[in-house]
Amino acid sequence: MSIQTRVKHKTVEDLITEAETLCERRSPAALPIIEDAMQMALHSGKLRHIALAKYAFGFYYCFVDNNYDDAVKFCDEALMHLNNTEISEFGYKMYLTLGNSYQLKGDVYMAQKSYLMGIKSLESKQDLKEREWDYLASFYYNLGLLLGNSAFNFQVEEYLTKAIEIYERIGQKYKLSKSYVAFCSILEPQGKYEECIDLLMKAKAIDEEENDQYSIALTNANLGIMYMRMNNETRSLYFLGLALEYYQAGGMTYETAMVKTSLGEALFKADNRKEGIIILHEAEGLFHELNNKKELSNIYGLLSNLLEVNGEFHEALQYQKKYTETLREFFDVEKTNSITRAKKEFETEQKEKEAALLREKNDEINRYVHRLEMSNNELKQFAQVASHDLREPLRMISSYMTLLEKSLRDNLNEQQKDFIGFAMDGARRMEQLIVDLLRLAKIDANPKLEDVKLGNVVEEIKLNLDTLLKEKNAIVVVSDLPVIQGDRTQMLQLFQNLIGNGVKYNESDQPLIRINCTTVFDKYEITISDNGIGIPETFKDKIFNIFQRVPTTKTYSGSGIGLAICKKIVDSMGGKIWVENNPTGGTVFKINLKVSY
Ligand code: ADP
Repeated sequence: MSIQTRVKHKTVEDLITEAETLCERRSPAALPIIEDAMQMALHSGKLRHIALAKYAFGFYYCFVDNNYDDAVKFCDEALMHLNNTEISEFGYKMYLTLGNSYQLKGDVYMAQKSYLMGIKSLESKQDLKEREWDYLASFYYNLGLLLGNSAFNFQVEEYLTKAIEIYERIGQKYKLSKSYVAFCSILEPQGKYEECIDLLMKAKAIDEEENDQYSIALTNANLGIMYMRMNNETRSLYFLGLALEYYQAGGMTYETAMVKTSLGEALFKADNRKEGIIILHEAEGLFHELNNKKELSNIYGLLSNLLEVNGEFHEALQYQKKYTETLREFFDVEKTNSITRAKKEFETEQKEKEAALLREKNDEINRYVHRLEMSNNELKQFAQVASHDLREPLRMISSYMTLLEKSLRDNLNEQQKDFIGFAMDGARRMEQLIVDLLRLAKIDANPKLEDVKLGNVVEEIKLNLDTLLKEKNAIVVVSDLPVIQGDRTQMLQLFQNLIGNGVKYNESDQPLIRINCTTVFDKYEITISDNGIGIPETFKDKIFNIFQRVPTTKTYSGSGIGLAICKKIVDSMGGKIWVENNPTGGTVFKINLKVSY
């Protein structure tokens, strides 16, 4: 059957829900469904779906396959695919499986961390749905169980109370009974055996109502242990016997071994020492089979104590040695775990620091961009003001001067005519300055880039300047020019300014402008040289400033803005422009532009 037929009309979410239910029943039938979900997710390319499918694999590996390492790997990857909103939406599912897997692997620290993350993500939600309450209670319940066995059990009571509260409220009976049993682990060390028995009876009533045989057996086992603590051996042996019968019939090795441990102890206390020790040895064998170091260590300790009481000192010593050995092994494993954890924490911290630094840099860049935008806007506003408001009074000066000249025409002497002429000239120059400033302001610092053939640009300029070139008998010699990435209009402005200046500031019989280009590493170096009047050393940098001109005896037209425009254009392309001496006289302008590949 093709995947299309199998998953007809189903979404990835549908498949995941189906797989979850099967995994909860420990059914291998979940696997093909998860594989289909993953194919669909990969096909859609949506990270959210891929994350869900990965989580389902994790869930499967943890609950059906008992492969906790892979379960952790898949859940971690799933979380990495989610953004913050998605994590608070359904990340808790991954955290629960992650915590379960770590717990089953024996990594208490990481399990606790995962459960706490799950609680955090659920508590950040507004209105929890019933299923989400169920998850929240599971986190509390698991934390209770996890820490109940560790040295950090001061919060256990709080966690389990919260779990019981939620389960009672949502009527989740199955888990409620488990929570009652778990609560006994807090009461037991306090010697509150009667209360424990009350709770266990409540749990058993629920289990019987639900006809949950497995849980009934578990509660019976616990009742057996509690009666043993109360020195009521008859009742203890009765309940332990019931539990053992059920576990043995079901071939449940771990549970059988656990009950045998308690049964052995109870028999020993009931003065049936020989049988008690035999049963404890049987439990030891089963834990060996399971390779369960933790329980083995417990049973070694117990056997050593009981054998000593029984006067079998030699054997008691052997078990004492085994007990110390397994403890040391545990210690080594714990030590390695702690070092690995510390390393992992350190790496995470480093990564977090790097990310924070990156965010800071980004913020800084954004602030600069914002400031740049503001100053660009100011410049545009200035251009607006300059083009309308400043030019208007100038026009008035010119027109009233003309009117004055006309109305006084015959009554003006030569000097008065000169005065009016100077005033008109000043107004015209001012107008020209404003127009030039506007040209500078209007240059776009972020132009659209396109391929520009510089050779064509220069040819077009030669046509534009045809009259000037003919007038001055000038020639422009161009050798191979490259195609560059730039704004064509700006390139026209740049080269027209430079060629125009080369001809203008030139007193030779035949002005000669040469343009060529070489490539130096990753840069084009374009040279525009002339045989003109040259530029004194002290002005080589200044001339690129706005309104800066070299004082000369002869007057040349212009306002001193052309080179400022050239510099702005080249700067905006990340290039450089400067002046060098022409050894044969005249000026050499050089431009560096990045070669774009
Ligand atoms: P403008 O030509 O309008 O004065 P520019 O900004 O183009 O303004 O040039 C600034 C000054 O640099 C000019 O006034 C001139 O003194 C000097 N200059 C520019 N190009 C040349 C050149 N090719 N040869 C000699 N002097 C130059």
